[in-house]
Amino acid sequence: MAGLDAVSDPSKVCIKGMDFPDLENWAQSHGFRSGQALMLWKLLYGNNIWANSPDELKGLNKDFKKMVSENVAFKSLSLKSIFTASDGTRKILFTLQDGSVIETVVIPCSGGRTTLCVSSQVGCAMNCQFCYTGRMGLKRHLTAAEIVDQAVFAQRLLSSELGSITNVVFMGMGEPLHNVDNVIKAASIMVDKQGLQFSPRKVTVSTSGLVPQLKRFLRESTCAIAVSLNATTDEVRNWIMPVNRKYNLALLLGTLREELRLKHKYKVLFEYVMLDGVNDSLEDAERLVELVRGIPCKINLIKFNPHQGSMFRPSPEERMIEFRNALAAGGCVVLLRFSKGDDQMAACGQLGRPAEHQVPLLRVPSQFRAAMEREQVSPSSPFPVDF
Ligand code: SF4
Repeated sequence: MAGLDAVSDPSKVCIKGMDFPDLENWAQSHGFRSGQALMLWKLLYGNNIWANSPDELKGLNKDFKKMVSENVAFKSLSLKSIFTASDGTRKILFTLQDGSVIETVVIPCSGGRTTLCVSSQVGCAMNCQFCYTGRMGLKRHLTAAEIVDQAVFAQRLLSSELGSITNVVFMGMGEPLHNVDNVIKAASIMVDKQGLQFSPRKVTVSTSGLVPQLKRFLRESTCAIAVSLNATTDEVRNWIMPVNRKYNLALLLGTLREELRLKHKYKVLFEYVMLDGVNDSLEDAERLVELVRGIPCKINLIKFNPHQGSMFRPSPEERMIEFRNALAAGGCVVLLRFSKGDDQMAACGQLGRPAEHQVPLLRVPSQFRAAMEREQVSPSSPFPVDF
C-alpha cells in the first residue's frame, strides 16, 4: 500500500473529508460541472473501485482528472499492520499524517454480515475505568477524512476475502460525540446513496453520554445511536464513567425519552458491560428495567474483556444469563454479547496503546473495594508482536 499523499503535499485538498455538496462546489469553483463531480464521487466510493490515487480515476474527463491529480490528496492514513484473531476478526493499525496510530476492527459475523468498527479520536478523554483506550488520555480528534478513509481502506483490503462491509459502528478508539462535527460529517458521507451506500440504520454511533452533543446528533443525523450505560445508579456510574458527574443518569435518559419522541421508528441501543460485583446484581437488573421504561430501546449485555492492569473482572456467565432473564421478564428487548477478537486485543474496550504515563485510575468507592481487591486480571493472551 502506497504512503500518504496528504503528507507529501499538505497544500492539497483532502478529498475524503468532503461530502458530495462540498465536492460539487469545489469542482464548480474550478470550472467543472456537477456531473463530473458525481463521476469522481462514484469512483471514490463505488463498489469495487474505492479509488485511492489518480491512476484509478478511469473514465474521468481528461482536464478534470488533471486538475484532480494536481490538487487532491486521496489518502489521509496509511496501513501499518493487520492482526488476525482466532475467530477471524481483523485489527488494522493505520498511521496518520502526524505519526499517530489508530486502530480499526473488521468483524466477520454470522448471516453474511461484516461489521467495521472505526475510531473517532486518537485516545479518549472520557476516562471510563474499564476501558484500555481511556488510559491513553486524548491525543486529538480524527478528521472526517481520517474516519471515512478507515472504511475505504477496510473495503479495499478485506472485502475480497471477507465480503463487503455491511455495518459500521463508531465504537473504536475515542468518544465519537466529543468529535461531533467530524463524526456527523463522516457518517453522512458513509450513508450517501451514490457513494458507500451504508444504510443509516446500519451505521451506529456510540456515546458515553455527552448530552448536548447527543441531542444534536439525534436531530442532525439519520444514523443509529448506541449509549454505553454500564450502571444503574449515579454512584456507580460517577465512578466507572466520570462523564456521569456532568450528565447524570436522569438527565441522559430524560433527554433520550424526549428526543426519541421526535423520531419515527427509532430505537436506541443501550450497551451494558457486565463487571463482576460492580453492576451485575439482580437489583441492578430491576433498576435497569425502570430506568429505560418509556424509551424505545434494545439492550446489549456485553462480557467484559480484561486487559493489562485492569481491576475489573467479567461477570460469570450464569450471572449474565440471570441478568438477561430478569430484563426480559421486565419487558426489555435484550441480547447477550460475547465480544469477538479478544485474543488480538481487538475487542470492545481493548483498543489503543497507552503510553508509559497513563491517565490515573479513580479511587475505588469503599463498598466496592473488597470486590476489586481480588487478584488483578491479566489479558487472556499475549499482545501482538508490535503492540
Ligand atoms: S469506553 Fe469509549 S468513551 Fe469510555 S474511555 Fe473508552 S473509548 Fe472513551
